[in-house]
Amino acid sequence: MMRAHMYAAQYGNHALAAETMAAIEVGRGLDACGQCDTCKASCRHSVQISNKLGHLRQIVASGELRV
Ligand code: SF4
Repeated sequence: MMRAHMYAAQYGNHALAAETMAAIEVGRGLDACGQCDTCKASCRHSVQISNKLGHLRQIVASGELRV
């Protein structure tokens, strides 16, 4: 998911982001995140996982990124 966010948000390559997300097993992508009230994912290298997932969800919701 972090790579999909990078492609979409940093490179503006929505096609590659969609391809990356499509390759994620069902139940292990944004579909899984929809079941969490708050994101509990943490990264020991301080990657802001929750923020990036929230941003990715916004990009999808805006229709820019079709998954
Ligand atoms: S903890 Fe975060 S990354 Fe994990 S499924 Fe929930 S929202 Fe998604």
